[in-house]
Amino acid sequence: MLLICIMAVPKQRQTKSRRDRRRGGQKKLETKLVVKCSNCGMPSLPHHACSHCGFYKGEQVIKGTDLKKNKTK
Ligand SMILES: [Zn+2]
Repeated sequence: MLLICIMAVPKQRQTKSRRDRRRGGQKKLETKLVVKCSNCGMPSLPHHACSHCGFYKGEQVIKGTDLKKNKTK
């Protein structure tokens, strides 16, 4: 009986710089996901109403006090 094992085998060893470039690119994306609020200057999520003052694109979308009840998405 003949058993055939099919498995991906890398032809060449990847260099350290190439490996680190791949891993470093993912880290950069995660850290950029916070923008400054145009109204109060606090850090908030992009394309979301500010969680501190409730402003989005220069208009008050949600009240600053009941943030947990009125979440916009
Ligand atoms: Zn704000």
